Amino acid sequence: MIAGEKYDLVIVGGGGGGLLLAILLGRKGLRVALLEQKKILTYPPRGEMIQPGGLKILDNVGLLKGLLSCDPHQNRRVHFYQSEGNHICTIDYQRLLPPYDYSLILLPRIIQDLFLKEVAACPNVEIISGASFQSILREGNAVTGVVLEQEGERRNMYAQVVVGADGALSPFRSALFIPYNLHHYQDGYLTALLPRSQDFLEEARYYLGKRKILGLFPVSSQTLYLFYMIQKDQIGLMRDRPFSSFKEQLCSINPGLEKPLMNLKCWEDTAFMPCFRVRCARWVSDGAVLMGDAAHAMNPHVAQGRNAAMEDAVILADVLLDCFQKGNFSQKALAKYEATRRPPVTILQRLGDEMTFFWNSGIAPLVWARNQSLEALHSNTTLHDKTLKTIAGIEVASMTFWDRVLMLNP
Ligand SMILES: Cc1cc2nc3c(=O)[nH]c(=O)nc-3n(C[C@H](O)[C@H](O)[C@H](O)COP(=O)(O)OP(=O)(O)OC[C@H]3O[C@@H](n4cnc5c(N)ncnc54)[C@H](O)[C@@H]3O)c2cc1C
Repeated sequence: MIAGEKYDLVIVGGGGGGLLLAILLGRKGLRVALLEQKKILTYPPRGEMIQPGGLKILDNVGLLKGLLSCDPHQNRRVHFYQSEGNHICTIDYQRLLPPYDYSLILLPRIIQDLFLKEVAACPNVEIISGASFQSILREGNAVTGVVLEQEGERRNMYAQVVVGADGALSPFRSALFIPYNLHHYQDGYLTALLPRSQDFLEEARYYLGKRKILGLFPVSSQTLYLFYMIQKDQIGLMRDRPFSSFKEQLCSINPGLEKPLMNLKCWEDTAFMPCFRVRCARWVSDGAVLMGDAAHAMNPHVAQGRNAAMEDAVILADVLLDCFQKGNFSQKALAKYEATRRPPVTILQRLGDEMTFFWNSGIAPLVWARNQSLEALHSNTTLHDKTLKTIAGIEVASMTFWDRVLMLNP
């Protein structure tokens, strides 16, 4: 073996999934190294919804109280409107059992800072920032470590198990040679953060039209998160046009945006967020595991990506503790993690794709079906509650044939 640092566990990627796993295993006394390619964490101007399932996890690990003190928006309801202005549907989180009968909408920076603070309190967890994963070290078929590059220098790092938490484009996944499919959705989102005045927008709103989606979500008492669907290959064309024409487009949907939009001056005040779906043949291999977006990125319509990554961290932490006890990190020993997490993730990915098919469409029968199903969610509490519990991550269940019939006949 070539010389290099030795850890119990190496995690590649310091997003929500990797950081939570580092916290959970660091607290158990394991020696963890977390590699993050970015030296300084930067965040695009966007918000994120933490679903009730995610709130429960944060509560269980003792971080929810801290998060609530950072002024996130406590979201009780999401309203859906046609882009012409008619109300179609309200999703009411208050129908869930307390205490997790709301979701949080916040700036990703808030939760990442909280996680980083918690990691800093674990002396046996080392965050190596500005360190990018390069390749995998193996002995036979088993993964035994990684090669990283930091400030132009390469070094080896050994561990009993390596976790790839490096996002949808995961270089770690490619190096594992696990067959996978990376789907780049046709539509992404132009996002921006706007000042929020107290008299504008009490609750989260979606506006849906023909090939049109505008979301307006409060993310704090001061800030509003705006996202607008854009076809990925149209973004260049759009940015060639004057910024004022984009603002006019938005104000034609909600005239109340005129004042908050005054603060956006140019395209540079916005970001384009592409959307991916990842499907892998396996999530585990001898000495290696994939988690979060690296294993199963999904369309953000289900607002579940971060939650799913946190769920992965909780289940994986338990499985890994067992592996550490037995000294066995074989694919077979790690398989319990995938067996537990794959079924709900598959349902969420499928739901995300169905929502994309109907919501993003401009084809009249599909637009009709979308509006019918949203009206059905509004009027049929059984359908409403089933869909909400799935999106909330409380009780993830597939839509049955009968549910679909009811959806089209509100
Ligand atoms: C427009 C949009 C809106 C969304 N809204 C929501 C929402 O409301 N709610 C929700 O739950 N989810 C949402 N998501 C999804 C959510 O952001 C992701 O699912 C979640 O961040 C995945 O976490 P992760 O830890 O798996 O990966 P990431 O957060 O992507 O973290 C991966 C990390 O790995 C690092 N990395 C990559 N390559 C390397 C390398 N070679 N070496 C070292 N480090 C590396 C990256 O720098 C990054 O920090 C949204 C996504 C999009 C695109």
